[in-house]
Amino acid sequence: MQDDTAFRQETRTWLAANCPASMRSYMPVGETCSGGRHFQFISDDQKVWMQRMAERGWTAPTWPTEYGGGGLTKQHAKILHDELNAITARSPLTSMGLSMIGPALLEFGSEELKQQHLPAIVRGDIRWCQGYSEPNAGSDLAGLQAKAEDRGDHFIVNGQKVWTTYADKADWMFCLVRTDLNSAKHSGISLVLFDMTTPGVSARPILLISGSSPFCETFLDDVRVEKNQVVGDINAGWSIAKYLLTHEREMIGGIGSTTAQKTVGARAIDAVGLREGRLADEILRGEVADWEIDFMSHQLTTERVRDESTSSSLGNASAMLKLYGTELNKRRCELLLALEGLDAMRWDESSEARLWLRSKGNSIEGGTSEIQLNIIAKRILGLG
Ligand SMILES: Cc1cc2nc3c(=O)[nH]c(=O)nc-3n(C[C@H](O)[C@H](O)[C@H](O)COP(=O)(O)OP(=O)(O)OC[C@H]3O[C@@H](n4cnc5c(N)ncnc54)[C@H](O)[C@@H]3O)c2cc1C
Repeated sequence: MQDDTAFRQETRTWLAANCPASMRSYMPVGETCSGGRHFQFISDDQKVWMQRMAERGWTAPTWPTEYGGGGLTKQHAKILHDELNAITARSPLTSMGLSMIGPALLEFGSEELKQQHLPAIVRGDIRWCQGYSEPNAGSDLAGLQAKAEDRGDHFIVNGQKVWTTYADKADWMFCLVRTDLNSAKHSGISLVLFDMTTPGVSARPILLISGSSPFCETFLDDVRVEKNQVVGDINAGWSIAKYLLTHEREMIGGIGSTTAQKTVGARAIDAVGLREGRLADEILRGEVADWEIDFMSHQLTTERVRDESTSSSLGNASAMLKLYGTELNKRRCELLLALEGLDAMRWDESSEARLWLRSKGNSIEGGTSEIQLNIIAKRILGLG
């Protein structure tokens, strides 16, 4: 294996040659590359950047090379991450495939499922959505009712999902269904995969207060799901679902430590010229400084937790990162509104007002803050 210095040098040289200039800037809202059959690239540069990174497996740096990943060690992946940050490179691909179903397939999927799905995720060919929540199963996820009837070599699925992010744009869904109606609540659940073009799957967008419709109600009417598309064992989906949630929570927690956007301090400099003068309102000035300190602490804590982790998931620590990261992002949005005043009250897609409204959902998606506090209390602190 290459030593760290040589790897860093080679990575730096490769990025200098391969990262298009227009992909070296903070990512405006709405310009994320999500991949998928119907994805419209914002520019040729965005497409080239995704493809070049995917060819090296660097859209999934630590995944094994046999599934299209980069095969990097944790240490080399960190170096790659540092070098990408150093040139403010945009994420070449951000998807539920990479951060949610991919890790679950690596851990629990059959060889056939890994070969079928992982390389397509790395290349950004297929976009995934998450069919967990139902009208009466959110925090109480194990109360889900979508049922899968055994028909020999396949299941027939009927039920309804809700809050399914980008169900109307995704190509495949990973979905929790009840495969045994007679067993206890947490048993009898399976995680199944199906193509969104399968007959019987339909999605209806829900309009949100932020003015966009990223979520859908998803209806499953007599949907045929092959048995080879069950992740792990039939009726053993609950522990796989929880494992996947630890990856989702780590990913959502990253919203508080992201370097893809300017920090509040940097935005304050843009908005009011902190360098020339001082932000007149000293309370606001203090809040900006507090946020910057907390942002750095969150980044360092996330890095420490990842360094200390010896398994393929951060486990219950993901609840802590999710809770804190999402609160930090909500504070970020509040502060930007305060800093920019009336200028923030635009209604274009990247306006601060709309981001502020969207941030309210951060402490609900992936499990509410109250649920994260319950996990921290019970599983980390050992209370109750
Ligand atoms: C932006 C966003 C994106 C989402 N994307 C998806 C997606 O792609 N796929 C998907 O399947 N789902 C998605 N969801 C749904 C999300 O997972 C659920 O909204 C969430 O789990 C909460 O469930 P609920 O809305 O049914 O609220 P409920 O579970 O009804 O909770 C209502 C309130 O009661 C509190 N509460 C409930 N139980 C407890 C308890 N035991 N202890 C303390 N307080 C409790 C909650 O904290 C909350 O404040 C998304 C949600 C949002 C906001």
